[in-house]
Amino acid sequence: MNIQNLIRPTIKALKPYSSARDEFQGVTDNMVFLDANENPFENGVNRYPDPQQGKLKAMLSEIKGISAKNILLGNGSDEVLDLIFRAFCEPNQDNIVILPPTYGMYEVLANLNAIGIKKVNLDADFQPKVEEILNTADANSKVLFICSPNNPSGNSFTTEAIKTLVSNFKGIVVIDEAYIDFSNAESWVSKLDQYPNLIVSQTLSKAYAMAGIRLGICYASTEIITVLNTIKPPYNINELTQNKAIELLNIKDLATNQIADILKERSALISELKSISYISKIYPTDANFVLVKVDDANKRYNQLIEKGIVIRNRTTQPGCENTLRLTVGTPKENKILINILQGLKTL
Ligand SMILES: *Cc1c(COP(=O)(O)O)cnc(C)c1O
Repeated sequence: MNIQNLIRPTIKALKPYSSARDEFQGVTDNMVFLDANENPFENGVNRYPDPQQGKLKAMLSEIKGISAKNILLGNGSDEVLDLIFRAFCEPNQDNIVILPPTYGMYEVLANLNAIGIKKVNLDADFQPKVEEILNTADANSKVLFICSPNNPSGNSFTTEAIKTLVSNFKGIVVIDEAYIDFSNAESWVSKLDQYPNLIVSQTLSKAYAMAGIRLGICYASTEIITVLNTIKPPYNINELTQNKAIELLNIKDLATNQIADILKERSALISELKSISYISKIYPTDANFVLVKVDDANKRYNQLIEKGIVIRNRTTQPGCENTLRLTVGTPKENKILINILQGLKTL
């Protein structure tokens, strides 16, 4: 597959903005920096941040076992996804393929960028209908979004299904692994070498407990990373974000231990949910949330709000009638949730 043929002509011709920090990257100790019109008085944030986030990428490279050259960072994965649209999808001409019920941002970003949307709903087990997806795609289908583990259903797609899609889809395939750290499934990051059209996106927002700093991670071939780098805003990851990510990633086993705790809590929560009479189904989950089917999602949602508990009502999503999505909280929060669920009046 020739990736160059997938890149929008406008983007191919683009000469990127060259920042002061792009033009000079040399020795930094004892140099006098008078090139970026910064205020010279030190306060920790008076200088522009590293536009290539060298230190942070080096850490992520080590944690994830992949070269820093295959990493691009975004202001949340939402920025990463937006860059992918801008690189590969021609407005008012191209389309993307999504697999509902799925993460809402793919559709929002498509609309924002004037890109068409082809939807192929997941099957009754929330698995992709591989053949139908490949048949639905046309010559203008530039990107296929696969969310695994999937939000809001929580399950991972089978390796076989993903493999067939990545191998046969004639455009870019994005695997959104926002929840991969909660799953036993292997990340597709390790298979980037085999699939030149593959982009994997992850985030520090969920398992790594850093939703507030906005840091999304994109892994792809150096060819794709180069394109995305050309179009990203020069200083898209601010100094505070870079420093906080480095600080927290440096705390040994922090994320690993918290993930283990959350998974333990998830099991406990699921066994308690089984005792709630009006929950008729608890869907298998590979993420830090559980989708459940209830008798009347709108009514149960409102009852919970009245009791001060906010969850997500997914009832309008395809295949999700009368479902609610519950995030796994602290042991105390989960206990409150269960107590209140047990006390809700019958409808
Ligand atoms: C939460 C979530 C994200 C995270 O987005 P950020 O912008 O990195 O916070 C991405 N994809 C999916 C499917 C999610 O559920």
